Order: sequence, then structure tokens, then C-alpha cells
Amino acid sequence: MINLETEIQYLKGVGPKKAASFLKLGVKTISDLLVFFPSYYQDRTQIIPIQKVLIQGDKNCIFGRVGKTYQKNINANLVMLDIEIIDETGKIYSRFFRKKNAYSKFDAFASLKKNFTSGRYAYIYGSVKSERMDIYIAPDDYEIVDDRSKEPMLFKKLLPVYPASEGLSQKLIRDCIETALSSCKNLYPDISSIIPRLDNITNEPSPLLLTKMHSPSSLFEAEQARRSFAMQEFLILETALFLSRSKNKILPKVQKYEISKNLLTPFKNNLKFSFTRAQKKVINEIFSDMQNPYQMNRLLMGDVGSGKTVTALSAMLLAAENKYQSTLIAPTEILAEQHFSNISKMLEGLPVKIALLTSNSLKRKTEREIKLKEIADGSIDIVIGTHSIIEERIKFKSLALVAVDEQHRFGVMQKLAALKKAQSPDVLMMTATPIPRALSMTVYGDMDVSIIDELPPGRLPVQTFYATEETAYKKTIEEIKKGSQVYIVYPLIDESDKLELKSAVEEADKLSKGIFKDFKTGLLHGRMKRDEKNEIMQKFKNKDFDILISTTVIEVGIDIPNAAVMIIQNADRFGLSALHQLRGRIGRGKIKSFCYLIGDAKSAAARTRIKIMTSTNDGFKIAEADLQMRGPGEFMGTEQHGFPEFKAGNLIKDMDIIEASKKAAQEIVESDANLEEPAYSSLRKIIESRFSKKLKLIEVG
Ligand code: ADP
Ligand code: MG
Repeated sequence: MINLETEIQYLKGVGPKKAASFLKLGVKTISDLLVFFPSYYQDRTQIIPIQKVLIQGDKNCIFGRVGKTYQKNINANLVMLDIEIIDETGKIYSRFFRKKNAYSKFDAFASLKKNFTSGRYAYIYGSVKSERMDIYIAPDDYEIVDDRSKEPMLFKKLLPVYPASEGLSQKLIRDCIETALSSCKNLYPDISSIIPRLDNITNEPSPLLLTKMHSPSSLFEAEQARRSFAMQEFLILETALFLSRSKNKILPKVQKYEISKNLLTPFKNNLKFSFTRAQKKVINEIFSDMQNPYQMNRLLMGDVGSGKTVTALSAMLLAAENKYQSTLIAPTEILAEQHFSNISKMLEGLPVKIALLTSNSLKRKTEREIKLKEIADGSIDIVIGTHSIIEERIKFKSLALVAVDEQHRFGVMQKLAALKKAQSPDVLMMTATPIPRALSMTVYGDMDVSIIDELPPGRLPVQTFYATEETAYKKTIEEIKKGSQVYIVYPLIDESDKLELKSAVEEADKLSKGIFKDFKTGLLHGRMKRDEKNEIMQKFKNKDFDILISTTVIEVGIDIPNAAVMIIQNADRFGLSALHQLRGRIGRGKIKSFCYLIGDAKSAAARTRIKIMTSTNDGFKIAEADLQMRGPGEFMGTEQHGFPEFKAGNLIKDMDIIEASKKAAQEIVESDANLEEPAYSSLRKIIESRFSKKLKLIEVG
């Protein structure tokens, strides 16, 4: 007996090797197979009379009696077989080509000839070609029937075409799905009776939807089935999220806040600028969360350079005003150190004690002991560091606020551990990779979202070009002469790859001795010692170098306003988010900045990325495009985020469904927080089995 959990290697014709190919497509069990949906449908509904086909040209289906066959040698290596297909309106050749082996007697057309015997009938799908006076159909697929009235298997229908994988034929996939449908479709979980009403969505039960997805009678029916199935998927996820959220909300926190402003006011007066409208709005949102009796769980999105750090710092000062400790966690040492040095400056003269905590700063015994003691006894108010903060031995006296910078770079588990440092911490996640609305509604469905949607005044947009090295270097020299500094980035795919690093270092050497020999250049890469890296960054900041040649270590957060030119090498090899992050290092000062993308954009995807980068600076637009190109799994880094995969749901097309499902989920959870009503019993079972593990991940965002 097969059931939903049966592994498909036990299906007829599959076995371990083909099962491995299926696994690459994410299909392991019968259940996976049922929701392994076609990537598109080939329209084979219309059978075209041969006479009409002759003047149409594109892909078509024909049907006719098999006539004579003719074989011809094209050259020493290639043979051709023409098979006459005849219907009431005319005659056309179905033409096949095969490679010829001069030393073999084997007839390459043996099986075709056996199938296409005179008098049988053939359905053929292919494109009509005409070369001079010669017109023929080049078959993509065919099906032979003996009796002309017999219904074909692969024709007169929309034929599902499945995502391909090596070693798996469409036929095998179709056969397996057929088996899965006929044996198990009725076992598939179903919540169709409780889905909300919406355009083009039916409440047909899952078994019927599955059948329609795999063999629809029209494209409309397929799309309707997809949307209906998607509604079930989203409703399950959103309900799971609301359940976790309602549980989170029950936890009141111990810390209480009063806004005395005895630190905030001097801090504001210290700043060389005033907050933007968007920063003020977000600070208000955060403060009101902190004063709220429940834990804050907020995501702060803001494009690179929008000023998230001071915004988070304001919250940390509110904590300090109320005698609570707070921490800012950064993804890299360089970034933590930069935060530490900038924040130290901004807090000069204020009675706030801050400390830097990185794996390096923990190495020295005396320094470490003093820091650990002062964190434990509460004399340090703000701890800035890397994930080292999460280490067991670091104990806080009264940690109440955890801010996580560039949160998408952290594994969820790390964040989770950080939260255990405090009894009921307020959590502020920050990201410069804006998450498109649809995604934030689902992944961060249980978080409140704040957006800084404006850059500090006076910033000039970076102008980006796709250019040759020659042009880029020429322009660069002009800009250096005007006083700008320059980044030349060799984005390494893997910072630990020695070969890749070596070639970047050699390139750097060549540049500094060649075209840039009249200027001062520095080199920075991830394998350098911390002190060395710091020294180089510091020198660049002090304008000791005109040009900093670097690997991707400068990717996040580095802030040097006088750097106004960036050249990105191998730009074609990098994703939109990475390019946008890199480019965010320039355009931070009062001078106009330029970004040159160098590389050979061979693939269509690379060309699209370059086109987007040269046409917009808007992080949200770029993120949206990135999501479109890569799909949500890769965009978010599925494993890290426990991000659920949707089988029918589409985060870009299905905004209306997501919204409706979210509303319905909220109503369900508010009316029946434990899903005890009989109507919700299958919903509850699905959530328990599918999300119990993932939910924990999603809870912390
Ligand atoms: P990001 O959002 O990328 O983390 P940062 O917090 O690093 O941005 O801020 C970028 C730069 O802008 C910093 O030099 C910061 O001091 C400055 N900045 C922040 N807010 C303002 C503001 N309201 N007006 C002018 N400069 C600001
Ligand atoms: Mg930042």
C-alpha cells in the first residue's frame, strides 16, 4: 500500500538512482509528488488541418495517416528520415535527423520505422519549417495510434511540462504523478471549507485541485486551481504565524520606561545633523513599543545610508536613561568596530559607558575580565559587538534591548541565543536589504515593521554605468584629481578561496604599479589580521590613500563620505543585493558619486541585473527585482530562515490572496485561539505537523 509518506523510489520505474534525481527537484515522497506542479502547460488542444499548418509556421499539432517513408544521407555523418503524414486537407513530411556512425550497420531509424508503419495514425507536435521549396514539420513529440478514433494520451489536451532534471523524462514524471494521483490524492490535507472568498478562487477540495493542476481542461481552470490551492497554503502559514504571535503577545515584559530625556536631549544636541522625518517617525514607533507592556519585536528596514544606526542608538539611550543595558550586534568585526568608534564619538561627554565585544577583544585576558565583570555588574550600558556577545560566559545584569544590525546575515539560532541573555528583551532587527511587502507580510508576519524611506538631505544619487575598464579608470583619475577617493572592489565569491584572493591581489598590484602609479593605493582583504584591516581603513578615512582596492569585506556598513567612486570588477557574477550593498558605500557625502560596473554580462540574468543597477538606486525596487529573479527561497536563504516554500503560491502575483488569507487567519485565531472548533481540526493538524519546528524559527524573525 502506498500512502503520502511512501518514498517514490519504490514506485514502478523509479529506483534509487532516479529517486536521487527527483530529490534534486525537492521530491522525496508521494506527497511531494502530488504538489510537484507543472512549470507550464503546452497547448495541444487544437489539432490543425495540414493545409493550414503549411501557412502557419509556429508550433502546432497535426494528425494524419502514416504514408511512405524516405531516407536520405545528408553527409557522411548525418541521415534524415521523412515520413509522410496525410489528412483530408493535405500532406506534410515529418522529418527526423540522426547522427550516422560510418562503422556501424545499425539503422538509427529502426525504432521510428517500426512505429511509423504505413496505415497507422500519428499525432505530431512540432514546428513547421520551410527551406526553399521544402516544407516539413520538425517533431518535438509524437504519439501513434492504430485506430483513428482512439483518444490520444498526449494530445487534444493541455500537456503539463514539469521542471526538468537530468535523468528524468517528462514521461516518467507524468507516469509517477498519475500513480500518485490515482492512489493518494484523497489523502492530501484539505482546508478548502474554511478558505475566504475571493475572485477566481474556488472552495473545491484539494484532491480536485490537484487533478486540475496536473491535467487542466483550460489554462483558466489551471490558474483558478493554482490560486485556490495557494489560498490554502497561505491560510495555513498565516494562521501559524498568528498563533505564534498571539502567544508572544501574552508575555509581558519586566522593563518599564520613562522618557526623561536626560541623555536623549544632550545626544541630540551633540549631533551634527537633525533627524529626518522618517527617522523621527521610526524613533517614535520604537519608543512607543518600548513603553508598551509587551516585548518589542520590530524590524527596521532602511536603504543603505538612511541612518539606521543613530535611530537604533536613540533606543539604546532610552534604555540607558532607564538604567537598562542594551546591545548592538553587527555581522562583522570591522562593522562592529566602526559602530563602536562612531557611537563613541556621538556619545562624547555623555554619562554613558560603552564597550566593544568581539572575538578579538575577548582574547586578551585582562581586557576580557574587566569587560565581562563590567557587563555583569551593569556598569557598562551599551555593548557593541559581533555574535561573540552570544557566548555563554557573557552575562548581563539588566539587558533589556537587543538591536541586530544587518539582521539577514545572522542565522536565526544566533539571534535566539542572544535573546536568552535577557528576561524579556525588546528586539529591534535592522536590515538594509529591504524586504518586498509580500515577503515581509509572510516571513515577518509576526513582526512590526518600520521603514526609513528617506535619505538624509543633501545626498546626491549615485550615477551608475556599465563600462569598460578603460573608461572607468580614465574617469576615476579625473575624479581623484578633483579630490575624491575611490574603491576598486574585487568581489570574491568566497573570501576564503586562496586562488581567487591571489588573483585579486595580483590585479591590485598590477593596477597600483600601472595605470594608478601616480596615486596612493591601499589593499584590504578578509584574510588580513584585524589590526592590519583597521589600520588600512583608518588610513583610507584619513585620506592617506586615494584608492582602496578591496574584496567584499567592505560590503556592509563602512562609512567614508569622501569616497565617491566605486569600480566593481566581475560585476556580472554578483547578485543584485550584493551589488546594491557595495554601491551603498559611496554617495554618502556632499559630492556626486559614480559607480562603474565592469564585467562580461553574458547571461540574460546578468544583463538584467546590470540594467537594473544602472537604472535605479532604490533599494526596494532592487529587492523586488531580486526576488522576481531568484525566487523567495534563495532571496531569503531558505535554510537560514526556515522560510516555507510555496507549491502553488506566488509571492509576487498573489498579493490579494496573501492579504485575504492574513485577514482570515486573524479572524480564526481571534475567535478560537487553540483551533478547537471541529471546522479547524484539519487546519490544526496541518499546522502541528508542518510548522511546529519552523514556527519557532519564524517567531524571532
Ligand atoms: P545605514 O542605514 O546604512 O546603517 P548609517 O546609520 O551608517 O546608515 O548612516 C549613514 C551616514 O549618515 C552616517 O554618517 C550618519 O552619521 C549619517 N546620518 C544619519 N542620519 C542623518 C541625518 N538625519 N542627517 C544627516 N546625516 C545623517
Ligand atoms: Mg548600517
